[in-house]
Amino acid sequence: MVNIMVATITKQRVKFFQCEECLFYYNDKKMAEKCEKWCKEKHSCNMEITKHAVK
Ligand SMILES: [Zn+2]
Repeated sequence: MVNIMVATITKQRVKFFQCEECLFYYNDKKMAEKCEKWCKEKHSCNMEITKHAVK
């Protein structure tokens, strides 16, 4: 079992969710959780997920 802990970060009053593994930011908590799950299980990045990341 992987423990998903997605961090919540607020920048200029906008809330982001951060994958604690690759440190990408997402607008969508679901995407951040998906990313973190992937990162922790596979130890790599999934382009299908990271393309949703906030720059
Ligand atoms: Zn990630």
